Amino acid sequence: MTVTATSNLASFFGSSPEDVKELFSSWGHKPYRAKQIAEWYFGKRFFSLDQMSDLPAALRAQLQEQFSWNFPDIVSSLDSPDGATKLLLKSDKNQMIETVILRYENRTALCVSSQVGCKLSCAFCQTGKLGFFRNLTTAEIIGQFALAETIVQKEGRTITNVVFMGMGEPLDNFDPVVKAVKILISPDGFGLSHRKVTVSTSGLADKIRLLSEQTRVALAISLHACRDELRNELMPINRRFPLAVLKEAIQHYQRVTDTKITFEYIPIKDKNLGLREAKELVQFLQGIPCKVNLIPFNSHPGLPFERPSPEAIDQFQRYMLDRGFVTTVRYSKGGDVSAACGQLAAKDSTNLDQIPRRKSVIGG
Ligand code: SF4
Repeated sequence: MTVTATSNLASFFGSSPEDVKELFSSWGHKPYRAKQIAEWYFGKRFFSLDQMSDLPAALRAQLQEQFSWNFPDIVSSLDSPDGATKLLLKSDKNQMIETVILRYENRTALCVSSQVGCKLSCAFCQTGKLGFFRNLTTAEIIGQFALAETIVQKEGRTITNVVFMGMGEPLDNFDPVVKAVKILISPDGFGLSHRKVTVSTSGLADKIRLLSEQTRVALAISLHACRDELRNELMPINRRFPLAVLKEAIQHYQRVTDTKITFEYIPIKDKNLGLREAKELVQFLQGIPCKVNLIPFNSHPGLPFERPSPEAIDQFQRYMLDRGFVTTVRYSKGGDVSAACGQLAAKDSTNLDQIPRRKSVIGG
């Protein structure tokens, strides 16, 4: 398959199973033709028309003429010894986004980006430092999945989990992200379990409620502090949706969708890892069936924070465990290639620098 990004045609990767059926019917094809392509595309996850051998040549030509089937261009690919691959990709509009493949023994996860840059300016996040450029389309999100799936298929793997934890705040790009989620989890789509697709949000409480009306998917909350004053400092979005409002939205989501919530908490040296913060975390989590992931901060030049000692993290974890909260320490994969949480900043972002940035409009 060609890997050139530039095309004026709509990308096929934005299509849902329903879109495919409608398209084929509008073209006057028999319904079984739509089923055929769905089996190749959604079922076998083949993203090139050349691979769809039982489709008539005329139909393949029609699909080729009407749609772009191009993957995003790979600008660079960095492998980490722990099994992560960070792909720096160029979007249709010549902007850089990042996608990370995470290989585990029995699963293969993909961390996708939902925006170019981010508006939310979290103090510990490299992406936040970039500012915001634009939302990605559904096709650009599924394009990341299609590209990564094609790469891992060559290794005998298949993508089993997708996390919206790359560049951007997914719920700030609501409709395209929800459509992508539905394509990923629909039994007629790529068929991933709704438990294996995670939307990670910094806490847009209104959108968390809206999400509960649209789909049922695993929800992760980037929490990082449970005192408004401290969370305001680390995550400006907290000024718009303070902790009490966020908690109500999370509990609402849980009531409606019956899903367990994951809380991501980045331990930062001398910031959020003391006894006071541990007590505040326990207090916040009361009444929310959940698990907590402690993801030690990855120090980076330009960010004024440091990783705490393993002992301090251990102590914090023990405090949580002793109070009955499932709490794991997750050293993010890919730290050595800047692919860990809060480290996606499209460093090779020459084109980003040529585009005027939009000022932060949320939480700022
Ligand atoms: S942590 Fe997430 S929400 Fe916050 S600035 Fe970074 S990408 Fe945006």
